[in-house]
Amino acid sequence: MKEKPSPAGHDTSSFILHPSSLAAKLEKLGLFTDFDLLLHLPLRYVDETHLYPIADAPIGRTVLVEGEVMDAEVKYKPRKRLTARVRDESGVLALTFFNFYPSQIKQLQPGMRLRLLGEVRPGFFGAEMAHPKYKVVRGEAPLAETLTPVYPTTAGLGQETLGKAIAKCLENLDLSDTLPVETRERLSLPGFAESVRFLHHPPPDTPQAVLESRDHPAWRRLAFDELLAQQLSMRLHYRRRHGEKAPSLPPKGALTQRLLAALPFQLTRAQARVMGEISRDLAQPHPMQRLLQGDVGSGKTVVAALAALQAVENGYQAAIMAPTEILAEQHYLKLSAWLEALGVKVAWLVSSLAKKNKQAALEAVASGEAPIAVGTHALFQEQVAFAKLGLAVIDEQHRFGVHQRLALRQKGEGAVHQLMMSATPIPRTLSMSYYADLDVSVIDELPPGRTPVVTKLVSDGRREEVIARVRDACLQGRQAYWVCPLIEESEALQLQTAIDTHETLTQTFPELKVGLVHGRLKTAEKAAVMDAFKRGELHLLVATTVIEVGVDVPNASLMVIEHAERMGLAQLHQLRGRVGRGAAQSACILLYAPPLSETAQERLKVIRETTDGFEISRQDLRIRGPGEFLGARQSGVPMLRVADLERDLDLLEAARDAAEHLLASQPGLVDKHLQRWLGGRQEFLKA
Ligand code: ADP
Ligand code: MG
Repeated sequence: MKEKPSPAGHDTSSFILHPSSLAAKLEKLGLFTDFDLLLHLPLRYVDETHLYPIADAPIGRTVLVEGEVMDAEVKYKPRKRLTARVRDESGVLALTFFNFYPSQIKQLQPGMRLRLLGEVRPGFFGAEMAHPKYKVVRGEAPLAETLTPVYPTTAGLGQETLGKAIAKCLENLDLSDTLPVETRERLSLPGFAESVRFLHHPPPDTPQAVLESRDHPAWRRLAFDELLAQQLSMRLHYRRRHGEKAPSLPPKGALTQRLLAALPFQLTRAQARVMGEISRDLAQPHPMQRLLQGDVGSGKTVVAALAALQAVENGYQAAIMAPTEILAEQHYLKLSAWLEALGVKVAWLVSSLAKKNKQAALEAVASGEAPIAVGTHALFQEQVAFAKLGLAVIDEQHRFGVHQRLALRQKGEGAVHQLMMSATPIPRTLSMSYYADLDVSVIDELPPGRTPVVTKLVSDGRREEVIARVRDACLQGRQAYWVCPLIEESEALQLQTAIDTHETLTQTFPELKVGLVHGRLKTAEKAAVMDAFKRGELHLLVATTVIEVGVDVPNASLMVIEHAERMGLAQLHQLRGRVGRGAAQSACILLYAPPLSETAQERLKVIRETTDGFEISRQDLRIRGPGEFLGARQSGVPMLRVADLERDLDLLEAARDAAEHLLASQPGLVDKHLQRWLGGRQEFLKA
């Protein structure tokens, strides 16, 4: 395993048809193989198949005209430029070049015939064309037979060179089809060769609108192929992992039943269902790779505890990892309260532990005295050795990189079962594509007795009203959070803001007890503040976004978020999830500083209008696009180049079905297809 794979997972390029001098430039475009180059599709096209009379050239479109040079001269005012006039039977066209070579002046002799490509514009003295591309024509000069592609390119790599390189690929590569005829016919998709040829060199009369709309059959064919490659590689990856061995940990009930009996509540139907799914996976002699999705507050922690106990019942250990100390600590407190009553010791491991305590925790984990360990990424550091790790639970999985998750998995003897949890629901299109290698369980129901949170947008100018509201709520025995703005540029500045806000609010509310929590506090200090808040000794808790995940204080029913316009949708949703955990009507006030950017407006509208995590995720994906949405998982994952998950949803579904079918019936085509689309990149997802 490499520490940091390059985005495409490539170390060196492997062009066969092209010299290395060209390869370096192609790499800058993210192109590493001849097939990459073949699939480098035009941005747009220009029409050099048709000559327009100067007088009839449509305005505002790049067109080809031809004319005879009348005169040419260099002018110096207002700026140095080369001007010339050409004429055809229909009229005269004035040309201007701001950058030119002395040789050009000589070239533009009266009587020369020029073929010019550019935009004709009506000017002061008739038709004009600024810096056209042109060539001198003598005798018969045939027109292009197809539209001319314009490719995305990079400095130092001209269209002509790139076009020639691609044409060479079109001529020399094996373009034979990797889809069986039945599949193509069923989906009404054209052949592969036909499709790439069409897209690089469309016939002259293809309307621009058709080429731009991206629903041309040729384009859809390539989108389908790309999605199919993704599905195939995900399926193969899934199979490979399920072929590995892991300890079988069947449900014995000795501990899980006792926990269920001791809980002050009953599992919701959704919790019971996902627990059943996890329980069955754990009983398999292959590593579980399951993603447990459930909105904030849906009760994932107890499911994690039950899964951990199933491992413990079988004599194995479980590790539960959270992305922040605050969250890890909440888990630790909750789990140790539940489990130590059953005689199951829970170790606590974070990097800020005092040496002595750390040593004790390490020993408890290494000897097996602690069957369960809860902590942060400190859990998979080198000096940590588990006696017999069987299950790794990873909360808020999207916060961890692939490497960190892998490292924890490798703490077991062989493969370890893995349960990933996420409160950021993954939209269906993504779970069908980038997450297709995981099994997914969804808790789609909240525990009873919750009341939906009311969300209000309030401009900064109305701060006083918000302050009054906080005072009222706290004096009535409720508690509130005051979340300080995210300051991405500087952690120090963010810290300072939190400290300042705390000071100001302490003065604003002399009658209330105001606490402060932020990421830089020592663990013990953090714990003391959180405890005081939980016990109701603090009315108002000023916090940085560290409270974003997991914090659970049911009596807190009001949250104020400052500069909400700076935060992302997922973050706002998580923050808001800290309230509405008890029976009282809760509210979340989003303070914002106008004017709002368009995307900020869009985000705030979404968060105000819905509390449904899946809907919020879907909107988030729409606003940000998959690249940003995927975050950590993205590293090493090639993004889609042709297909678009929203637009091509029907193709995505078809590709998923076709993948199953091809794997079963056409292994040869599968190999060829993957080679074509992913080249050396099949190994892109290993966690
Ligand atoms: P999340 O899915 O956000 O991690 P938690 O596991 O923190 O949610 O659960 C939120 C709160 O709901 C906790 O106080 C937890 O004890 C409580 N809870 C979990 N399951 C149930 C249930 N079935 N009935 C009532 N309360 C529950
Ligand atoms: Mg949680």
